[in-house]
Amino acid sequence: MSTIQTQKSSKSDTVSFPSFQPKRSITKLLDPLDEIAEKSPRFLSKSTGHFESDHRGYSLPHYVFLGPRGGDEPIRIGIFAGIHGDEQEGVLALAQFLRLLHLKPEWAAGYCLFIYPVCNPTGFENNTRHSRSGKDLNREFWSNSSEPEVLLLQKELIAHSFHGIISLHTDDTSEGFYGFAHGATLTKNLIEPALDAAAQFVPRNNNDVIDGFKARNGVIRKGYQGILGAPPQVRPRPFEIILETPKTAPEYLKEAAFVSSLKTILSEYRKFIAYAQNL
Ligand SMILES: [Zn+2]
Repeated sequence: MSTIQTQKSSKSDTVSFPSFQPKRSITKLLDPLDEIAEKSPRFLSKSTGHFESDHRGYSLPHYVFLGPRGGDEPIRIGIFAGIHGDEQEGVLALAQFLRLLHLKPEWAAGYCLFIYPVCNPTGFENNTRHSRSGKDLNREFWSNSSEPEVLLLQKELIAHSFHGIISLHTDDTSEGFYGFAHGATLTKNLIEPALDAAAQFVPRNNNDVIDGFKARNGVIRKGYQGILGAPPQVRPRPFEIILETPKTAPEYLKEAAFVSSLKTILSEYRKFIAYAQNL
């Protein structure tokens, strides 16, 4: 049970509330972004779904950014952060990425970006890896999970049938930046320049084994079961990239590394699409 002091602070004024006090505020994080979204004709801010935890109502924050037209139907990319609630680096980087997109819409030329900065709202508030229900949400996908956050995200993954999926994470056991490349074969052609871009700010993890997996130049091809990704039956597979920043680097460098690798993936994939269309 937590207690909150009323304005005139004295012991007798102490009021008890049955619910907890969040360690971090989602509203404080998202209010400035919602303000931008309201002003910009390219931004759409909406929350998806509704669920309850600890008698509080939650939804899944969700921003859609429509870049300047690149010719054909916009390429749909889903970008996800904060599925592990204690990994705030990706969350902050996506907030910064959204601010920058507002200033530099050409970064997203030809794209429709679906951005989910806080995929685990209760874990974000509590600063815990797991959601408040005690589950690691990033082991629950496409396995008949009943976790509301997973169900909402799965619905989004089905509805938008993304051409590419990018997830941002933090690894507190790694000294360097690295990534997982899944899905379409071309993923490796996107992740390599993305890791190069990140390396301007945070050194790369060049170990042969990272997080228990065989790795090469900071790229892992295998991965855990049940992670956030495209529905298993989807063909052709979209590109799927997971970027992992080390925890130890300074905040502004981690943020720059994420933003710069996201920007690079978008420009590299755009080149690939243009090339494929000219074949
Ligand atoms: Zn993680």
